[in-house]
Amino acid sequence: MPAAALSPEIMAKYEPVIGLEVHVQLLTSTKAFCSCANQFGSAPNTNICPVCLGLPGALPVLNAKAVEYATLASLALNCQVRERSIFARKNYFYPDLPKGYQISQFDKPIAEHGWIDVPTADGSMKRIGITRLHMEEDAGKSIHDGFADSATRTYLDLNRCGTPLAEIVSEPDIRTPDEAFEYLTRLKEILLYTGVSDCNMEEGSLRCDANVSVRPRGQEKFGTKAEVKNVNSFRFIRAALEYEIERQIEVIESGGRVMQETRLWNAAEGRTYSMRSKEQAHDYRYFPEPDLPPLVVSAEFLEAAKKKLPELPEARRARMIAEYELTAKDAHTLTASREFADRFEAAAKAAKSPRRVANLLLSELGGRLKALGLEQEQSPVSMAGVVMAADLLEEDKISSKQLKQLLDVCFEKSEDFPAVFEREKPQQITDASAIEKMIDDVIAANPKQVEQYRAGKKTMAGFFVGQVMKASKGQANPALLNELVTKKLED
Ligand code: ADP
Ligand code: ZN
Ligand code: MG
Repeated sequence: MPAAALSPEIMAKYEPVIGLEVHVQLLTSTKAFCSCANQFGSAPNTNICPVCLGLPGALPVLNAKAVEYATLASLALNCQVRERSIFARKNYFYPDLPKGYQISQFDKPIAEHGWIDVPTADGSMKRIGITRLHMEEDAGKSIHDGFADSATRTYLDLNRCGTPLAEIVSEPDIRTPDEAFEYLTRLKEILLYTGVSDCNMEEGSLRCDANVSVRPRGQEKFGTKAEVKNVNSFRFIRAALEYEIERQIEVIESGGRVMQETRLWNAAEGRTYSMRSKEQAHDYRYFPEPDLPPLVVSAEFLEAAKKKLPELPEARRARMIAEYELTAKDAHTLTASREFADRFEAAAKAAKSPRRVANLLLSELGGRLKALGLEQEQSPVSMAGVVMAADLLEEDKISSKQLKQLLDVCFEKSEDFPAVFEREKPQQITDASAIEKMIDDVIAANPKQVEQYRAGKKTMAGFFVGQVMKASKGQANPALLNELVTKKLED
């Protein structure tokens, strides 16, 4: 609907207010209330039983692992875990919900009052409140396309019925689409570290609904919100919010009123469409689930969960920056996943210089992997190889040029670093007089640069080191070369 982009002046008159509702599937091996496999990608309608189909007389039994995962997530998100929470039935009719209701939690969720700190535009951190985390079960899937008769029929796959979910509802504390993006990125990272979900958006294990309204700056009262559904990546959530904010401002600026409604994101068109208005909103007729007793999280259970909680990303980054002298940016990349951070730390502890390990992983290896579209786990160079390479560099036994050449071979032949190093045994010139001879040649050939150096431009030393290294085909001993270049230039 935003026909033309609104001017920045008009946009600036309004403040967006955003709250996010995130569903994550919990990584239990069986479903929330029955022993069916909780598995993505099985043949349709094979992981089902009378309980998850809601056949008459079938009774649910709560999966203890799901409670453990919900508890871990709650703690990781700084929530207070309720000692006694209540399951409730959320009633609605939909073909992919054969029971006619979803087991969820309503007024007494398992956890409340949490928060996540997210970075903002000015670099400071901002605390986004988490209203609640509650447990519920997933519904099945309606398949509207992909069949020969999809034009006239919808197919059902009920495998997903009863998959355990945690729904995490934020406070309306988010003020920009970028903050929403950061919140989701941090949330996903925390959940991945905690190991409770694989957060795979393509497979639907993480889904997000975005609520957004705008209000004139300075006004305390929130505007009327729209809820945007059907958004399957964090980038699209940001785009959908940007679109929606502008649409709402335009409605208000042209004298209209924003309707409370649910809207669908259309990624192909980059816009949202109205799906249903508030008048058509569901009345879920929540009531306590009669087939399940209150969920009691004992003090012992909570203590045990706290002990299982890993070091979380933000704390880990702070510690790694201090321990290995990393920049904030590098620490961020190295902690992108818990597995990668674990591997880095093991290598950093084994190597002579953690800094070199970080540099190798981030630049030389990271760059090559990225260019080939490979994941860290697919690297031909093992962490032991990284440690060996870092130590050789640190002890000046190879030059960085030689390292590059060795790594090229590793990637060409899909071989680990130690094997390639043993075979290629790169030569190194450690004879000072041979290196001095090469330096003399370079100095003689570059009088202008010598003059600049002697006029005080000390960084020119790097130029001479580079030229000699090139002339030596990367074989000059780097430490010796550095020392001799300075000596010669100072003469
Ligand atoms: P509903 O009853 O429509 O589900 P809730 O109060 O439960 O609304 O809130 C759902 C989500 O919408 C929460 O994440 C909350 O932070 C957010 N939210 C609530 N009011 C607003 C508003 N006026 N503008 C933007 N987001 C809002
Ligand atoms: Zn089942
Ligand atoms: Mg609500």
